[in-house]
Amino acid sequence: MVHAVCPLCGRFVESLVGGLCPQCYRANHPLIQLKKEIVIQRCRICGAYKYGDSGWTQEVEVLEEEIRRKANRFLVFGGRVTEVVLRVRPEDRILEVKVKGVAHGLEDEPYWENLTAPLKLRETLCDGCVRHLAKRAAATVQVRAEGRELTGEERRAVQEALTALAKSKGLRTSQVPIEVEEVPHGVDVHFATHAAAREFVRILSEKVFFDVLETSKLVGITRSGREKHKQTLRLLLPKFKKGDVIELKGNLYLVEDIRASKLILLDLERAEKTTIPLTRSTLNAISVHTAGEELEHGVVISRSENLIYVMSMRDNSLLEVEARGPKAARLVPGSRVSLLRREGIVYLVTFEGEPSSSRSSVG
Ligand SMILES: [Zn+2]
Ligand SMILES: [Zn+2]
Repeated sequence: MVHAVCPLCGRFVESLVGGLCPQCYRANHPLIQLKKEIVIQRCRICGAYKYGDSGWTQEVEVLEEEIRRKANRFLVFGGRVTEVVLRVRPEDRILEVKVKGVAHGLEDEPYWENLTAPLKLRETLCDGCVRHLAKRAAATVQVRAEGRELTGEERRAVQEALTALAKSKGLRTSQVPIEVEEVPHGVDVHFATHAAAREFVRILSEKVFFDVLETSKLVGITRSGREKHKQTLRLLLPKFKKGDVIELKGNLYLVEDIRASKLILLDLERAEKTTIPLTRSTLNAISVHTAGEELEHGVVISRSENLIYVMSMRDNSLLEVEARGPKAARLVPGSRVSLLRREGIVYLVTFEGEPSSSRSSVG
């Protein structure tokens, strides 16, 4: 006997579940749904697979088991599920999932539902291949900075140089880096050939200033009797970085930018921009007065045409600063600045922000 009509499909049924016929109810209450993209790594050289933090494996079955154990990461189960069958098809970039269960609210017998999820393959190198290749590296470029960590910007410049190298003509893909290793205080890049290492250094030198120290070590003899050398190119970036205040011949400067062959500075005394060529002798004459992250912060309290009163966030003292340069002209009560004090003189270093509602209550 027919009691109801399904509003979705128009079928006549004995009774409705949640206002729908059982088929439509199932369709609207899937047992599984994909909540996240599934990404697996595949080694470019040996073809091994890895999912998440598991180990590398050559066996698709092992990969499958690993994915099954972590199914909750990418699947949402929407009912009483009693069985899950998973099949990974890396070549087709597909993961097939079959589940048996009953949607919540249904009084049915368990039934099967299928889901085909896209599989994303990320090409990389497995740990074993990296170790193997690192041993074969003919040249290593070590990127370091004198007495400090590399900045995020400098690390990005290394990545960009590697990208540019990968695109450069005349180099085969096999010559492009074997491994890029983040090490304490810097980055090591291992190359299979000396030529690739030198080309990388040349590209990087267009963006970043550094000294190069080259060393070579005899590591063996080739079958034809030639000596085999492992080359190390140590790149040393200056002790100062963008945003630091440096001292040169008694004057203080903010480092606004470091180019391949020049320094762009702000003379703090004159509040004027200046550019000086980067040479060995200039470099030796420079000392870091205050690192950017150690500058004092303050808020402008009031100002006249020539004087700015800033409250230091370090000790709440009220400091008087001469208003010089275009930066100072923009300052209004509530503006945030960074400061430097030397021998009783206060220098305005950077303008850090417009007055904000939370800070303006201070002024
Ligand atoms: Zn229906
Ligand atoms: Zn491998």
